[in-house]
Amino acid sequence: MSTLRVLFATSEAYPLAKTGGLGDVSYALPTALRQLGVDARLLLPGYPSVMQQLLLIEVHENLTLFPSVEPVRLLAGFMPGGAYPVYVIDGPKLYAREGGPYQDAAGNEWPDNAVRFAVLSKIAAMFGSHQFLFKPDILHCNDWQTGLAPAFLAYSQARQRAMSVMSVHNMAYQGVFGPELAELFGQSRTDMIRVVKLLGLPESSFSMNGLEYHGKMSFLKAGLHYSDWITTVSPTYAKDIQTEAFGYGLQGLLATRSHQLSGILNGIDIDAWNPVTDRYIVKNYSIDMLADKDENKRILRGKLGLEQAPNKPLLGMITRLTYQKGIDLLVPVIPDIIHEGVQLVLLGSGDKELENRLKQYARLLPSQISVTLGYDEQLSHQIIAASDMFLMPSLFEPCGLTQMYSMRYGTIPLVRRTGGLADTVIDATLANIQNHSATGFVFEEEDSQQLLSCIQRALKAFHRKDLWPALQSNGMTHDFSWHHSANEYVALYQRLLIKN
Ligand code: ADP
Repeated sequence: MSTLRVLFATSEAYPLAKTGGLGDVSYALPTALRQLGVDARLLLPGYPSVMQQLLLIEVHENLTLFPSVEPVRLLAGFMPGGAYPVYVIDGPKLYAREGGPYQDAAGNEWPDNAVRFAVLSKIAAMFGSHQFLFKPDILHCNDWQTGLAPAFLAYSQARQRAMSVMSVHNMAYQGVFGPELAELFGQSRTDMIRVVKLLGLPESSFSMNGLEYHGKMSFLKAGLHYSDWITTVSPTYAKDIQTEAFGYGLQGLLATRSHQLSGILNGIDIDAWNPVTDRYIVKNYSIDMLADKDENKRILRGKLGLEQAPNKPLLGMITRLTYQKGIDLLVPVIPDIIHEGVQLVLLGSGDKELENRLKQYARLLPSQISVTLGYDEQLSHQIIAASDMFLMPSLFEPCGLTQMYSMRYGTIPLVRRTGGLADTVIDATLANIQNHSATGFVFEEEDSQQLLSCIQRALKAFHRKDLWPALQSNGMTHDFSWHHSANEYVALYQRLLIKN
């Protein structure tokens, strides 16, 4: 059988650009696919951090894609370390700016995101319709930023084209744009049909059975409607998004496509996240040398100004500070958590109000609470290694990666039972402890008291020297690698190609 070719189109990929889990997945999944013999390549925008890290050569110049949008160049390079091809879109007016991939430094969405990601989607679809030298069998799109690609591809006149897969990493972000979009394309505010035509899509696509969403255009809906297959990043989230609570108005569409929708659990990069070799942590350790894990705790406490209290567990949290992550459940019980004899160490950035509330607590009790605002890859590894417990009280969680990193580092996750957290953390019930499957502590409801009870339960276990190491061992020996999931993706790609 000839080599399977996959173009992975994404708005971020570690280590070139990363704001969250999508960045990790966009590096690790193509790497795992390549290990299975797939010719997987990446396409992403040329943000400054991408242009700085890659040695690039030009593949195509002056791709004029939409009216009034500057022509872009398509460049090719190699992923640092991973040594596989990466295609980069060079459009200085679109992507060369200080700030993040989606927002400026103050946290405001870039006003022209629709254009920036329509360009990404369009070039992805051009790959999919075999207009460039690399002709993928599969166009694998990720989240709303590449959502228009399956629509462009479905309407392309190409005789041969890739099959498209749309992966949802988070339904909460949909890329919905109204008539203001027209102005971005240099037109006066007109109706949405005009916008759709400016994008090169037929008028008929602007309907309920297309990319229309309450009179506006939804990039994610386009992806969900026009792709040949939909995946999400965990089996439970695949069910969650078909419900009103988590479908954000698209649950009906997803239910009608449920026979073409599957949940494939994310893996983690077990080389980047390995306590035995991790270069970011001060003292490497293995399951046989857990005493060395404590050395990381001692050093981190010193670094962050926390009291050296051998009997107090360190509870870690690394997160985007958004509604989704359940910070609102945590904040009211922070005094109780500290009262119980737990130290809190948090790294995160996002919502300014949440940042301020958390920082206030840290100022009040600097010996027991440490809050670092910002994005810090090294500190994130150090917190995972040093903490005894790791908290994820998410209101919803498509998959979640940090709970898996934690288990690999012998750090016990405390999570709400939702989405991928439900699929990866096994609650320390008596039965699960006895059959050696327990890896963490799980609570059910969106309720601060339940969160506190969960911490109290974990605290009891922490003080039981016969139990805690067993929980650590169960997590540390579990296979969280991409190997299994990458095989599932290959099987899916092959099924799609056979059907075609
Ligand atoms: P999400 O994609 O919803 O943000 P995930 O758990 O899937 O959540 O992935 C989050 C990723 O981003 C993890 O690799 C985590 O370590 C990292 N991360 C989140 N916030 C920070 C931060 N402030 N500093 C460093 N890494 C962070």
